[in-house]
Amino acid sequence: MIEKAAPTLPVCKTIAIVAHDNCKSDLVEWVRWNSSLLTRHKLICTGTTGSKIEAALKAEEEVSTINMVKLLSGPLGGDLQLGALIAEQKIDLLIFFWDPMQPQPHDVDVKALLRIAVVYNVPFANNRATADYLIASRLMDEDYRPRRTDFSNYIDRPLNL
Ligand code: PGA
Repeated sequence: MIEKAAPTLPVCKTIAIVAHDNCKSDLVEWVRWNSSLLTRHKLICTGTTGSKIEAALKAEEEVSTINMVKLLSGPLGGDLQLGALIAEQKIDLLIFFWDPMQPQPHDVDVKALLRIAVVYNVPFANNRATADYLIASRLMDEDYRPRRTDFSNYIDRPLNL
């Protein structure tokens, strides 16, 4: 008797999405282009980026199929909220189109987000080509767990108090 393989559930990743104002249209277009792939994942967006994506998808009547959570606007703490989620290991992927041509009032928050993504070995795309590579990766369909650095030496470091 031939046993049927159990159907594998599609893997659902939690994808953080952020774009600075001059990069929002590029990111919205990227989400629209990949909307069918993104329907099985969960998006967590900073506030304005999320609203722009929602509006674009609504125009195409796709909004209900995308699972999205909106946080605070980036400069009002949204980037830091994402950073906290990364530290809690609740984010699988970060798509962050930051503007290389304009200073940002919340530059320290941007740096904090990028730094914590490196600390926790979270894959991140800072431009569209990298986002294309990430979304096309076969690892999107696998339960991939990135290796985390063991920080116990740091946590248990001797302090002369
Ligand atoms: P926003 O935040 O999506 O609320 O505009 C993005 C950012 O960090 O600048």
